[in-house]
Formats: sequence, structure tokens, C-alpha cells
Amino acid sequence: MSDSIDLVVIGGGPGGSAAAIRASQLGLRVALVEAEERLGGTCLNWGCIPTKALLRQAQVLRLLRRAEEFGLTTGEIGHDWQQVIGRSRRVVEELSGGVAALMRKNRVEVVRGRGRLTPSREVEVVPDDGDPVRLRAERVLLATGGRPASLPGVEIDGERVISSREAMVLPQRPDTLVIIGAGAIGVEFASFYGAFGTRVVLLEAEAQVLPGEDPEAATVLTAALEADGVEVRTGVRVTGVKTTSRARRATVAFEGPEGPAEVKGERALMAVGVTANAGGLGLAALGLRADRGRVPVDDDYQTPVPGVYAIGDLIGPPQLAHAASAEGAAAAEAMAGQGRGRPDPASIPRCIYSEPEVAGVGLTQAQAEEQGIEVKVGRFPLIASGRARASGDAEGLIKLVFGARYGDLLGAVIVGPEATELIAEAGLALAMEATWEELAHTVHAHPTLSEGLMEAAAAAFGQSINI
Ligand code: NAD
Repeated sequence: MSDSIDLVVIGGGPGGSAAAIRASQLGLRVALVEAEERLGGTCLNWGCIPTKALLRQAQVLRLLRRAEEFGLTTGEIGHDWQQVIGRSRRVVEELSGGVAALMRKNRVEVVRGRGRLTPSREVEVVPDDGDPVRLRAERVLLATGGRPASLPGVEIDGERVISSREAMVLPQRPDTLVIIGAGAIGVEFASFYGAFGTRVVLLEAEAQVLPGEDPEAATVLTAALEADGVEVRTGVRVTGVKTTSRARRATVAFEGPEGPAEVKGERALMAVGVTANAGGLGLAALGLRADRGRVPVDDDYQTPVPGVYAIGDLIGPPQLAHAASAEGAAAAEAMAGQGRGRPDPASIPRCIYSEPEVAGVGLTQAQAEEQGIEVKVGRFPLIASGRARASGDAEGLIKLVFGARYGDLLGAVIVGPEATELIAEAGLALAMEATWEELAHTVHAHPTLSEGLMEAAAAAFGQSINI
């Protein structure tokens, strides 16, 4: 088998599977090595997909609680925790079968086991049971992703100190949960557990939740989390976690504005970022060093070792599923000599699926101003949207940032219902280098949420009709 392979991809997540399919479409013979039972990687099995199922369930629960507002009557509203978790796992199972079918359809050979490079640049695959096999190909693509990071001296024991992986399948809903870090994972789990009645304390070292995102969006999100009963504490740096299995408590120590303090919870969820899965791949023997945990690559995603490529979480931010997929496809095209080029990191959307959702693309206002660009900013508050009002979901804002000189779109941030869908229009506008007029003069259907983009574009240049 090994003589007939052009490319071995190690890792079957959104990055590796996109690369394998695209390479096969381009005529390469591809083998995909996957250590886990199911294809799809963290995103499908332990990340994006199951958490979106859980967040949807939280959203339905919130709506049910508001039934009266819509003129509806319900009986007592409760939940069955096992069913809540069970639905999210069923969604994963259904989709995982779909990835395997895609591989078959695209003639990608899936090889089960843990892959690593040998000093002679073969790929040794060690299955859970059975003998190792060796694959030789001209090219190898590393797409092994990442895993939850922790703080120095704190072990994620999966019991009192958990990662997102345990947080999405807890056998019982905790009464109290301390979440360390208010990035993507921290905020999404705060939104989920807050809705289900867990007392959540969300601790963030920076001055706002979702550091780096537009502060106006962070303010709307913080208010919504607080309305769900989440205690949001920013400007607090967690320094350690102590656990006592007998007392079934995690004690989280932090340095806050008033000095050192601590907070206790039934469990502590570590959500302080992601560490690349660069260990155990045999990189050192090939003279390949991860630099601050990142595998270095050139514009074609080739590492300093000829024929060895890397994409996704392994190569550093933005460590997002859709970035990995785009990188995987771009790497495959580069191998086939017809590269689309590296996706511009600024064009990669940032989507948070809390309630309300937060989505951004391109530069924030602060980033544009830091670059010395004179900007025009247009805002459309959802309270002015007929569609949002009709849906009873009018908390939020659409904010567009344009260059004052040419009126070109620089970035967008949306907080509110369907923000993660609405941001795609701004992404396309950025890719097309659209101006405010092109956005404002594109007739949008009424009533829709997307009209808000048209209105915000017009507002930036003083021509809004509806605000
Ligand atoms: P993150 O980098 O998004 O956020 C980590 C947060 O922890 C930051 O806000 C940081 O300031 C804070 N922090 C770090 N050290 C701290 C300390 N000692 N005390 C208090 N706060 C501290 O990482 P994450 O939320 O763990 O997510 C991991 C990865 O998965 C990221 O790359 C993220 O983008 C990705 N992810 C994305 C989505 C999404 O796009 N919807 C969802 C989940 C995860």
C-alpha cells in the first residue's frame, strides 16, 4: 500500500480531513491517519458541534421560560440532564459517520492508529491493538490539532478541575462552577450552565470578557451573562487551584483588584487556551522544533523539513476549526502547485455561540485606530430592527468600521441573534473589498436582521434611513 501514496495526513479533524479531500480531488493518492475511534477531531467530537447542540438546548430553555411573553402557556419547565447531554452526543455520532462516508467517496484511505514521523521521514502508525505499519509518501501533512492548556502547577484531573471535554458530558449538572478564562470556551460554557441554573463564576484576567473583541460587544454579552445569573469578574488573574476530593470542591485562587482572594466551586473549568499536539510526532529527530509550541511553516504550510507540512492548531492562532479547514485546503493546493495562497488571518470570522452570539471579522475599531487609520463607524442597534423586535430578541448591535478615506470596509462586529450567520455577509464584503456604498445600496429584504448591515453602513456616512 505504502508505495502508492502521495500524501499522508496525520489527524482527521477539520484541517486534516479538508486537506485529504482537496488533495484527492487534485489527483493525489491520500492516506489519512487517525488515532481516535471517530473521524472529525476535537471540533466534531469534543468541541464545536456538541457545544452548539448544548447551547441550542439552553436557548430553547430560555425561550420556554419566556413562553408567557409570547402568549403561550406551559406546564412546569424542567430538564432531564442525561437527555440534555444525550442529544448532543447523538448529533456527534450522526455527523461522524458523515465524515467517514466523505473519505470513502473521495477515495481517501483511513488508517487507524497514532502516527509519528520516523527519522527516515516515514510515518509509523501504531494502532491500539495490532502491529505498527509504516507508510512512505513524498509528502506528510501534520494536522494533529491541540488540547486544552492549563495554568502552571494546575493539573486538569478531569474530576474537580475539568476541561471543556468533561464539561460537555458531566454526569450531573454542578450546582456551582468556577470558569477560569472568559475566552470562547469560558463564555460559551458560562452561557450554557448559567441557563440551566448552575451558579457560575467566570474569572477573566483581562479587563473584559472575550479580550481583543470589540468592547461594545463584550458589554452586551456581559449584561446577558449576568442576567443568566453568571457572576462575571474581570481583571482577576487565577494563580492556582486546590482540590479536595473528600469535600468535592475546587478552590480557585486569584489575584484581583483588591489583592489575593479565592472562590470555591463544585468544579473548576479550565478555559485558558489551547496547546498544540506537537509532542510524540517525532519532530525533534527530524530537526524540527516547535517554537513556543508552534510548528513553523512557510506560506505553503511547509515546515523547514522538505515535504513535511503542518496546519491548524499546530501552527498557532487563529486556532479555529474553519481556519484549519481553509489552511488544509490551501496546503493541498500548494502541494499540487496551484495554491490559492494562505488565507488572510484578518478575513477569518470569530464566532462565539453564547446567548447573545458574538461575531467579528476583520479589524476592530481599536485595531484600525492603532494602525493609524482614520475610521468611520456605523452602528445599528437591534432595538431598531423590526425583525428582531417581532422575534422578541432585540438585544444587540451591528457595528461596521470603514476607512474614512475610501469608505472601504475594514471590519465588523455583531452581537445578537444569528450574529454568527450574519457575519458572513461582512466577510464576503471584506473579501470583495466592498465600500460602504456597496453595502448600503444593496437592497436587503425587509424585515430581516441582515438589513442592519445595510443600515449600519449607511449610518457610518450619515445616511441611515431607520435610525
Ligand atoms: P481563549 O484563548 O479563547 O481564551 C482564554 C482566556 O483565558 C483569555 O481570555 C485569557 O485572557 C484568559 N486567561 C488566561 N490565563 C488566565 C488566568 N491565569 N486567569 C484568568 N484568566 C486567564 O481560549 P479558550 O476559550 O480556552 O479556547 C481554546 C481555543 O479553542 C481557542 O483557540 C478558541 O478560539 C477555540 N474555541 C473557539 C470557539 C469558537 O470559535 N466558538 C469555541 C471554543 C473554543
